[in-house]
Amino acid sequence: MFFYGSSLGFIILLPLIAYAMYAQSMVTKTFNRYLKVPNTRGITGAETARKILDAHGLNDVKIVKIAGKLSDHYDPRSRTVSLSEAVYSGNSIASVSVGAHEVGHAIQHAEGYAPLNFRSLLAPVASFGSKYMMILVFAGFIFNILQLIDLGILFYALALLFQIVTLPVEFNASTRAIANLTDLGIVYDQEIIGSKTVLKAAAMTYVAAAAVSAGQLFRLILIRNSRR
Ligand SMILES: [Zn+2]
Repeated sequence: MFFYGSSLGFIILLPLIAYAMYAQSMVTKTFNRYLKVPNTRGITGAETARKILDAHGLNDVKIVKIAGKLSDHYDPRSRTVSLSEAVYSGNSIASVSVGAHEVGHAIQHAEGYAPLNFRSLLAPVASFGSKYMMILVFAGFIFNILQLIDLGILFYALALLFQIVTLPVEFNASTRAIANLTDLGIVYDQEIIGSKTVLKAAAMTYVAAAAVSAGQLFRLILIRNSRR
């Protein structure tokens, strides 16, 4: 009843979920494809990251190797760029592109880039919200307490806001990555097309995730209003 209650909401949500699954498969496919294409200079993801960081005076930002695939990230608390094995040690177009992207976040952090600050501010609220929103909504329906449903929807909206704020942060990190890869001569003209393809595919997964959340929120609101 709860999950299939609103058919209109479901009709809207379904293509968004399909789009998210497509985006996810595309990022893996594109990453794997460019992981097989070595860059002309034979430079690794870790070397790329170091080179860009140093060029921005961020000599004290650490670069570490972590397990997993596409698990690359930047942690502002420890000021550490964590790169997965294939990115850290690989000398492919994909490796340098992802390495440059993560460094983009470190530069955003150092510059006090506003969307990143706002995102960090929202992060604890969003993670709290996404943990409890479903419990609240479920409890609200079971006990027929509208306020609980509304609180759950509010938490959901905050989690969506976090995903929306993530978008400029991600796009901007990729724009910086492309500029740095070109300006520092890490990749050549024809190779930058590959970098752009890899980073665009990654950005699409964030857009898709936000779209699914927006669809889910819309559906929840429809279900809530049909209960009144
Ligand atoms: Zn990123």
